[in-house]
Order: sequence, then C-alpha cells, then structure tokens
Amino acid sequence: MIKENSEVILSVRNLHATVEGTPILKGMNFEVKAGEIHAIMGRNGSGKSTFSKVLAGHPDYEVTDGEIIYHGENILDLEPDERALKGLFLAFQYPLEIPGVSNLDFLRVAYNSKRKAQGKEELDAFDFEDLVEEKLNIVKMEASFLERSLNEGFSGGEKKRNEILQMALLEPSLAILDETDSGLDIDALKIVAQGVNQLATPENATVMITHYQRLLNYVEPDYVHVMQGGQIIKSGGKELALELESRGYEFLEEQAIASEVTA
Ligand code: ADP
Ligand code: MG
Repeated sequence: MIKENSEVILSVRNLHATVEGTPILKGMNFEVKAGEIHAIMGRNGSGKSTFSKVLAGHPDYEVTDGEIIYHGENILDLEPDERALKGLFLAFQYPLEIPGVSNLDFLRVAYNSKRKAQGKEELDAFDFEDLVEEKLNIVKMEASFLERSLNEGFSGGEKKRNEILQMALLEPSLAILDETDSGLDIDALKIVAQGVNQLATPENATVMITHYQRLLNYVEPDYVHVMQGGQIIKSGGKELALELESRGYEFLEEQAIASEVTA
C-alpha cells in the first residue's frame, strides 16, 4: 500500500535511551509513512520492547539523546495518555490483568476519552455496546468476554485478541504491536493477522515487533528491520525476514562487524 509522497507519521532520529541508568537504545533511526507496514525483528534482548515503550512514553525509560517526531511534532515531553490521544497505540508484549475492571468499561472509557479529545460527543453505554459488538467480529470474540475483568484469566491468545479489539475501537494512526504473535496457536495467529490486515488503511501505519517470521506469512510487511544492541543494523523488504528464517541472525552480525572494521 506504499504511495508516493505519503505523509510521514513517525520519524525517530538518533534515539538513545536508558533504563535505570543502563543504556539500551543506542542510536535508533526509523521512519514510518502513512499506508506502511513495518516489521522489527531481532534476538531477545536487542531492545525491541524498549523501543516500543520509549515510543509510548513509559516512565521507566529516559531518553538521553535524539528525537521522536510524530505527525510533525516532537512528542518527547508528552505523557503516555497524551500520546495515546494523538493516535499512538501500543499493544503490549505482556498485557496487564486488571481484576475488578470489566473489559467493557475499560474499552468504553478508553474510547470515550479519545472521542472527547477529538471534540466529539461521548457514546452512552447502549450505543457503545452496539459499536463494540460490531468490532468483536474482527477478532472473533464472544460477547461474554466483555463482561469479564480486563485480561483476568484470559489465555495468551485471548489477551492478544483483546489488544486487537482495543485497536479496532481506537483506530490508531500508528499501531505498534509488540510480539502480538508470541504464544499464539495457529488459529489465534490467523485471527490476529486478519485483524491487523483489516485495520490497515492508506492513512494509518503499523509496526509489528516480532521474533519470528511466521506472523509475516499472514501480514505482509513493506519493510523489515533488524535490531541488535539497541540499533537497527539492517533494513530491507519482506525477503529479509525469509533470509533471517533460513540463515539465522548470525550472518547479519558478521556483516555488521565486517562493515565496522572497514569503516
Ligand atoms: P527485546 O524486546 O528485544 O527482547 P528488551 O527491550 O526487552 O529486548 O530488552 C533490551 C535489554 O534491556 C535487555 O538486555 C534487558 O535485559 C534490558 N532491560 C530491559 N528492561 C530493563 C530494566 N528495567 N532494567 C535493566 N535492564 C533492562
Ligand atoms: Mg520484547
């Protein structure tokens, strides 16, 4: 769905970030335009989740250098909820369980705060239920899920589908999905992938963080990036994911070392 001259949604330049004083991100450069689907891959510990949390504004992470420009605005000083209201959405690798808060209430509050921020009227409980029931189809969830406490006792696959349901309701401009495929059986993986495909439009963009290439069989990325040591060490098209699948990450690391030596 790549178009000429489409709007730049996210531009990350030379981003450095630390957690508890330890540098994790060491010069991330990353740009996403409207209509694009990107995949970020990389070994465990390469900094993928850190990158997604820094984008979302997680308070444990300190940005020490660089910038995050989102829709032309530097968002580094914005709180996570302010970023969310601007259409930045993060599906967590480990979604939180919140006992005592029904899934339906949680979704309605999230949805209505976005409506409010857009200067639109909030939906009452009845209208919201109609809307959410329509969206349940996208993730093939039963209505009974809405009455349960948020994520409490949900299976891995149900939690991930619930994240996609949130995304369907909030219609983000930029969705970052951190390992939304991990721990899913093949049926749940297909449902999640179909949801992602159905929600992708020429106006929005999706960044899928994934360890495995198998999700990319179902959601075709326009670009694939590989992270290592808090940086993107290689970018390419979808064929890069297939190459990683067959050759492992080692060959890239050897290439990266070789180019450092010659640089
Ligand atoms: P990935 O998602 O690619 O597996 P992470 O972003 O979760 O990688 O982690 C990157 C590195 O940051 C790892 O070495 C991890 O141990 C470290 N890290 C993450 N969170 C913390 C923390 N709270 N304190 C110290 N180190 C952390
Ligand atoms: Mg991770």
